[in-house]
Amino acid sequence: MTTEQQRETTHQRAPWPSALGGVLVLGVLGFALSSFVGTHPVPIQPTRVLAAGEGLKWFKGNMHTHSHWSDGDDYLENIALWYREKKYDFLVFTDHNVLARSERWVDVEKTKGGQKAYDKLKQQFPDWIDERTVDGKQQVRLRMFPEVVEKVGVPDKFLLIQGEEISDRFGKSPIHLNASNIQTAIPPLGGNSVTEAIQNNVNAVIAQRERENTPILVHLNHPNFQWGVTAEDIFPVRGENFFEVYNGHPGVHNHGDHVHAGTEAIWDIINSRRLTETDLPLMYGLGTDDGHNYHNIPSRASEPGRAWVMVLASDLSVESLITAMEAGQFYASSGVTLDRVSFDGRDLTVAVRPDEGVTYRIDFIGTREDFDRSSEPVRDEQGAELPVTRRYSKDVGAVFQSSTGESATYRMKGNELYVRCKVVSSRPHPNPSEMGDFENAWTQPVRPAK
Ligand SMILES: [Zn+2]
Ligand SMILES: [Zn+2]
Repeated sequence: MTTEQQRETTHQRAPWPSALGGVLVLGVLGFALSSFVGTHPVPIQPTRVLAAGEGLKWFKGNMHTHSHWSDGDDYLENIALWYREKKYDFLVFTDHNVLARSERWVDVEKTKGGQKAYDKLKQQFPDWIDERTVDGKQQVRLRMFPEVVEKVGVPDKFLLIQGEEISDRFGKSPIHLNASNIQTAIPPLGGNSVTEAIQNNVNAVIAQRERENTPILVHLNHPNFQWGVTAEDIFPVRGENFFEVYNGHPGVHNHGDHVHAGTEAIWDIINSRRLTETDLPLMYGLGTDDGHNYHNIPSRASEPGRAWVMVLASDLSVESLITAMEAGQFYASSGVTLDRVSFDGRDLTVAVRPDEGVTYRIDFIGTREDFDRSSEPVRDEQGAELPVTRRYSKDVGAVFQSSTGESATYRMKGNELYVRCKVVSSRPHPNPSEMGDFENAWTQPVRPAK
């Protein structure tokens, strides 16, 4: 199936208004999209204030986590305890193409975490390890998701969510998508292009969501991992409205390089093209750990604690969290905490919760309606086109305003396609995925009221 056909036959799921009505509005797969194209306006976000109070709280969570179930080096329960002790509110387990739902025994010595992980497990969870000896080898049964929830989860305090990193590939390009609150594993489905492979996997998540009648959030991971996914690959995908603007794995090139666009540039290209060429909604940005290595922190491996999301929701349930995220009620952080993000359709105000001795640069970034839409391919020294994100004009993701302080307001001129805010701390990230990173926060893009 071509991408064009995909656009015709796949469905963009309607957002949940369940924060208000508790009603799940789920779309119908296969609904003819053609009637929408060109006529269905991109919804303008309502006036909103993101601040704790009046029944709403901030919940801190990491939505990208590996364990012994795939290529992480620790047991689920050890990992969950680490996040619980660091005062996270929720954690999504996202092993590659597998859910922790079957009986699985591992040789302690053959696991990535080896004796170290075992000793930690023994120390943290005495009288808990299910173990045996087979042919002289010590084996441990990996605890399944419900067992870990019962052991480490705390109602209303620490929520564990089952996820999967659907780990697909097109040619040499890895294509990884996280599905949070997935109920049964989805094997990677492939496709005839990167876009089609993303779309096929997203469609499968949406179909499961509708079948199971439960929220499942799908997000595209680390587009620059092995330079697998370009802005042009992502922007036309239907039903995929979240991606990782910051991933803590050291091999994912958040900043790009002289040939490749960084994730923030990719984000701006996606939103500029979506809002002018498609009927698709804004793409939102996540910060995640993609943790694999839990025994030597900090080091230069893929460790937990580097980036997260802060979600403003009424309670700590998967329904509330996903509903809030789909409404844009969250921000991504690699260290900066925000007190308040308010937007009335005209003024976008961001207030930092300052740490002592730290200063903050607050940038408002966006693209205007009349932006220069030209772009050109990136070429190698022989002039051959490279399969990377194209180069766009400076109008895409322009900095509209920059100031230093603990809060700032950007007043819309009215001709913005969207505006987002990035806060850059003067404090270096204590354990960055790329050397030289400072702590940041990224708010979700908003559109001026018309
Ligand atoms: Zn991945
Ligand atoms: Zn991963």
